[in-house]
Amino acid sequence: MSAASPLRSGAASPGHRPQDARRPAANPWRVDLRELGRRAGSMQEIDRSAPAPDDWRVELIGVPAGTEVHLRLRLESVMEGVLVSGEIDAPVTGSCARCLEPIEDTLSLDVQELYAYEGSTTEATSEEDEVRRIEGDYLDLEPLARDTVVLALPLAPVCTDDCAGLCSDCGQRLDDLPADHAHEVVDARWAGLAAKFGTPSSSPGAPGESPTTEEN
Ligand SMILES: [Zn+2]
Ligand SMILES: [Zn+2]
Repeated sequence: MSAASPLRSGAASPGHRPQDARRPAANPWRVDLRELGRRAGSMQEIDRSAPAPDDWRVELIGVPAGTEVHLRLRLESVMEGVLVSGEIDAPVTGSCARCLEPIEDTLSLDVQELYAYEGSTTEATSEEDEVRRIEGDYLDLEPLARDTVVLALPLAPVCTDDCAGLCSDCGQRLDDLPADHAHEVVDARWAGLAAKFGTPSSSPGAPGESPTTEEN
């Protein structure tokens, strides 16, 4: 809709703020179906962003509350209700389950879902948790988007598919370390004893490099 909005005041403001989204009445997750109408076959395209609520997460990863979730959806009027199909893009942040490195990504998910009209046969013959409902003239996209996104969130996200995790000795990220990263297996107590009794170091593969001063 490019027609001049009644919200626009005479004073030109440089920023084009989405003023509708700031009004509590305009919930971008809700779709007013009066435009689509009930005639089977009519169609409406939706291309909009909506802020993520704060509960779209699993343990290690989730959609930051308030970030924009992008909806590119097609609403089709069918006999029993409205068929919603299209794509949802949601930014996700979290941490790698192996190395704890921060993860930033965007999930792009396909959706296809029927919302049943009140009073339709589908509504009458299905449970409320099986088929989504149209409430009056409105369809709420948020539960559909949330279920789609949260189900797609990995329980053990990784920064890369072959992330090697952390060194069990020093806790550093193995992918940041040289390939031959290793720790000398020298027991500190052994080293002390060896020096005291003058026995030559018996640890294989551990060259004696302790800078101990020797007394004569
Ligand atoms: Zn990692
Ligand atoms: Zn290490």
